[in-house]
Amino acid sequence: MGEIICLGIESTAHTIAIGILDSKKGIIADQRSMYTTDKGGIIPIECAKHHKDLKEELLKKALEESKLKIEEIDFFAYSEGPGLPPSLIVGKDFAKELALKYNKPLVGVNHLVGHLEEGKYFTKAKDPVFIFVSGANTQIIAHEGKKYRVFGEALSVGLGNALDKFGRAVGLGFPAGPKIEQLAKKGNFIEIPYVVKGMDVEFSGIVTHCINLYKKGAKIEDLCYSLQETGFSMLLEVTERALAHTGKKEALLIGGVAANQRFVEMLNLMCKERKVKSFACPLKYSGDNGIQIAIAAMLQYKSDYKVYKTKKQKELADINTNWRIDQVETPWMDMFKK
Ligand code: AMP
Ligand code: MG
Repeated sequence: MGEIICLGIESTAHTIAIGILDSKKGIIADQRSMYTTDKGGIIPIECAKHHKDLKEELLKKALEESKLKIEEIDFFAYSEGPGLPPSLIVGKDFAKELALKYNKPLVGVNHLVGHLEEGKYFTKAKDPVFIFVSGANTQIIAHEGKKYRVFGEALSVGLGNALDKFGRAVGLGFPAGPKIEQLAKKGNFIEIPYVVKGMDVEFSGIVTHCINLYKKGAKIEDLCYSLQETGFSMLLEVTERALAHTGKKEALLIGGVAANQRFVEMLNLMCKERKVKSFACPLKYSGDNGIQIAIAAMLQYKSDYKVYKTKKQKELADINTNWRIDQVETPWMDMFKK
């Protein structure tokens, strides 16, 4: 295939983003806007309104940045799921409208596959165990057979959301992760529950425990530090077992929480002991963005997976709120191995 240009739209949760990827030149545009609040969590309808209000402006900026005319885009892609329905609908409708209007194919991408493929793209890791830690999702994933498979996961709430939940209760606003990281630097360790069940982890009880300690007067810095150390250790314990089970020699940290430098440091230590190569997705690409959708979409386009070509197919394109990663086919893996 010659030069192909994909425009990817991300809108699963708090971020609306447009990324343009050129198969020869790489990233040529990356525009994003994140919905934030000072105090409470995400209000889905308001978040969707934010996305709706900003989508046209982001498209305009992305085209300016890439110095392209929209007619030069070869295909459009969107985050089909998983995510918050009101947010997902905005991205889906926008991508659909553009693909129909400019008569170009439309590709439906699994947001999680977007994170994984983007992580590999930037770090050059080939076949890692992924420690995927974002707001809603926390999963230890590796490719086995023909799919990405989940080896362990957070049972109720993802680590990012757990940090945000704690942050909300103690008045840090959203997103709380970066503030917790800063506060933790001045904290000391307090014993809090450590909950690994088989290959899964459970954060909700830990958060409640920390909120209760806060109400009883525990220092916020100590709670932030202990929450981080405990949560990260739990995930690394499961990662070590996934590495042993799969025999893989690489570990790759991705998702919004991968921005946490303490987590990266702990991962590096564990991997060094096991003689495994450790990677972390660059900070800039650890959170939700349009490039992740374009990168996965490019692989899908080349291997003809979920490429909606006809008017009818495009009109039927939908969202898939609970689309699990182990339900995604990965035909590009076989193609590029050869
Ligand atoms: P994502 O859903 O992948 O965009 O990730 C968003 C999540 O990452 C939110 O829950 C944030 O609180 C969390 N996050 C962002 N930066 C950090 C950080 N430095 N430390 C811990 N968590 C973070
Ligand atoms: Mg995400």
